[in-house]
Amino acid sequence: MPENDSDNVRVCVRCRPMNEKEKEQGCIQVVNVDTVRKNVTVNHKESSRGEPPKTYSFDNVYAPDAKQVDIYNETARPIVDFVLEGYNGTIFAYGQTGTGKTFTMEGVRAVPELRGVIPNSFAHIFGHIAKAEGDARFLVRVSYLEIYNEDVRDLLGKDQNQRLEVKERPDIGVYVKDLSSFVVNNADDMDRIMTLGNKNRMTGATNMNLHSSRSHAIFTVTIECSDKGLDGEQHIRAGKLHLVDLAGSERQAKTGATGQRLKEATKINLSLSTLGNVISALVDGKSSHIPYRNSKLTRLLQDSLGGNSKTTMIANVGPADYNYDETISTLRYANRAK
Ligand code: ADP
Ligand code: MG
Repeated sequence: MPENDSDNVRVCVRCRPMNEKEKEQGCIQVVNVDTVRKNVTVNHKESSRGEPPKTYSFDNVYAPDAKQVDIYNETARPIVDFVLEGYNGTIFAYGQTGTGKTFTMEGVRAVPELRGVIPNSFAHIFGHIAKAEGDARFLVRVSYLEIYNEDVRDLLGKDQNQRLEVKERPDIGVYVKDLSSFVVNNADDMDRIMTLGNKNRMTGATNMNLHSSRSHAIFTVTIECSDKGLDGEQHIRAGKLHLVDLAGSERQAKTGATGQRLKEATKINLSLSTLGNVISALVDGKSSHIPYRNSKLTRLLQDSLGGNSKTTMIANVGPADYNYDETISTLRYANRAK
């Protein structure tokens, strides 16, 4: 059993490689990842010349050449193992749009070595089930939703225009009313469901890039195991794994948005700032009030953040000078959550 909340919350940083366009334009690499000291140093950019480099340390750090499989094994695997034991766990990808959140969570599913956390977790879960001994029986279910503008949409639902309500009951806690969930029997089933959800995510959007940068996608795997205990009785334990590709953390207000756009931007910032507040209150361990209720995202994940659950945040940053301000802001956010 986990000892206290601060052990249960881990924060890692991953810096993606410079892309072709950045290389062509002669961008300067300002982010340095020290995997031995587990810290990240950002050198000043031109306009902040004279400022000393800033260094932030984390539970783990990943340089641009980090392999997907290492991130899985070091950062995600312990959470999934914990869920297989019947506890709840959440893995978040945080960061500015274009820094690799989706690459980290989903990756390139068709290329084994480029698979991200989600497909690797499918293989891990069903690998564990195949090896299970005795008369353990498993039931694995998945659901997939997105939160856009504080509205919840079922990405696996029949009616993609429907908005779902978040409810609460004393016996089961917070839940999404009418959210569909599917029983899956192998990793391929899960993969097909993820593809379906991703397709629905896109068809609802007039501009996919804008949409994905402003919505939070939550892929949830529920694993029930029924097993004969030492007392000879049948026991059921259930664990829940949330895999979350968060909305882009870039400050939207700066872009001069007005009207509907500004309203959306405020809501995105609300759920990300509430998430930061919840995580830092959990890590701090002294706060008696955790502000879960302040956003849909934290409310939905309430029973999987804090308490007996494990949470990992992977904060993604870009390497180049022109991202300096956003990179510093991401590292500060992640550092506060630590
Ligand atoms: P985000 O989801 O944060 O907006 P993406 O995951 O879509 O960002 O990444 C933006 C682009 O950078 C994509 O083309 C992606 O394949 C590429 N990319 C991101 N991280 C890496 C990485 N670690 N190695 C190689 N390519 C990456
Ligand atoms: Mg993305």
